[in-house]
Amino acid sequence: MSGVVVIGAGIVGAGIARDLTLRGIPVTLLEREAPASGASGRCHGLLHSGARYAVTDPAAAAECARENLALKAIAPGYIEDTGGLFVAVSEGEAAYGDKLLDACKKASIPMEELSAAESPNRKAVRCMRTNDAAIDPFLLTIANLYDARINGAIVHTRTGVRSIVEGGVLLDDGRTLKADIVINAAGHACGAINKDMRLSIQPDKGTILVTERRLCDVVLNRMRPPSDGDIIVPGHTTSLIGTTSSRSTSTIPARDEYRALLREAKAMLPDNEEIRIIRAFSGVRPLLGNALDGSIEGRALSRDHHIDENNGIVTVAGGKLTTYRLIAETAANKVMRLLGERGECRTKTPLPNILRDEPDGSLLCNCERAAGRIIAMDFLNPEDLWKFNRIGFGACQGMRCAKNVPREREFLEERWKGIKPVLDDIQLKQTYLSWASQMLQRDIS
Ligand SMILES: Cc1cc2nc3c(=O)[nH]c(=O)nc-3n(C[C@H](O)[C@H](O)[C@H](O)COP(=O)(O)OP(=O)(O)OC[C@H]3O[C@@H](n4cnc5c(N)ncnc54)[C@H](O)[C@@H]3O)c2cc1C
Repeated sequence: MSGVVVIGAGIVGAGIARDLTLRGIPVTLLEREAPASGASGRCHGLLHSGARYAVTDPAAAAECARENLALKAIAPGYIEDTGGLFVAVSEGEAAYGDKLLDACKKASIPMEELSAAESPNRKAVRCMRTNDAAIDPFLLTIANLYDARINGAIVHTRTGVRSIVEGGVLLDDGRTLKADIVINAAGHACGAINKDMRLSIQPDKGTILVTERRLCDVVLNRMRPPSDGDIIVPGHTTSLIGTTSSRSTSTIPARDEYRALLREAKAMLPDNEEIRIIRAFSGVRPLLGNALDGSIEGRALSRDHHIDENNGIVTVAGGKLTTYRLIAETAANKVMRLLGERGECRTKTPLPNILRDEPDGSLLCNCERAAGRIIAMDFLNPEDLWKFNRIGFGACQGMRCAKNVPREREFLEERWKGIKPVLDDIQLKQTYLSWASQMLQRDIS
């Protein structure tokens, strides 16, 4: 048996690799860049309760509700169980709350009415509580990969697939690799490597703002149908304000996206005198298109997933970070049937702990006390480790810690793409200071 080749080390590819190896199937996973380089590393890390989709997309909402509980049980070390609030800032939004309560009840999503005074927004008209949480998508992805690896998977990063060919895959470097089954989990790029794909994928750009400090210790949702700028999620020492939705494959945030998101965040938290944004970033959702002419876009598209099989190629599209385990289970069930193999899904068992008790080596940045926090993994390239150790993720955005990243210039250029569109007021001065300090350090050394 040649085994199964999985393309893409986003959360879905990593989850499938874990699922199949736990069932005893030989897996080789190929990732063109580093794990979590696509949408998985560019999302808010909101572990949805399902409430956000309860009114508009009940099937996706019910899946989120079940997987929220499953992930809290198997990955507690990568989750901050903050809880979530839905806040109405107008009478119209408060009226939407009735629909929300009703839909949550039908989908078995916990939702309880609080007094508006319990909201962090003193002007709130209505407030309800649900069981959202914050999850670290980088750790979640590599914990899945690590478990797959210790159970026998072969994981190659920096190894791209040019196309899926008969009996296997053709790699970017011209080599071919045989496979009984190929799983295409390349996110929004899955169509580029499989010209015969029958699914229609609509790439959907979303932008997120990073704040200089935490605005709130709970996930905040606006009490209205899903729309731009209606979520604020705690992310380590920062908060993440998101998101937007537009048909694009660009990962460069735009200034008008920054302005729109900041306006909405201020409406959600008017008591925070100054919300200081230190960076923006964008990701591309691999949404499932459901109109051949592409007439349905962005927010109107379901967040549900779909798995297609055609001639030994299994393609996975749609879904959420929150539902990755379920998507992986469904894809792996299909593969088992195609291979004629037996074996139950075992991914409801806890993920391994990949965090060190004591960080390895010296402190790499003070903002988040970033250090070598993860255990050694042979598939992680030393040049990619900064992401998983959160270097340059806190308030300094690299001013103090860029020197600890192997390719310092590339790292600073990447950060600049996200800093440039958010330069205003204090952050503009802060950036001048960072630039001046870099220049001075260079002169001194
Ligand atoms: C802005 C934004 C906010 C979001 N917020 C949330 C949230 O808060 N909660 C939530 O549950 N979901 C959220 N999502 C959705 C979630 O991030 C995605 O559904 C999920 O990460 C998709 O994972 P994936 O593995 O399918 O795709 P990706 O993470 O995109 O992974 C695909 C991988 O394939 C690799 N690849 C591509 N082409 C090739 C090739 N030819 N060869 C080898 N490798 C290749 C890529 O490098 C990438 O690593 C958000 C998405 C966005 C964009």
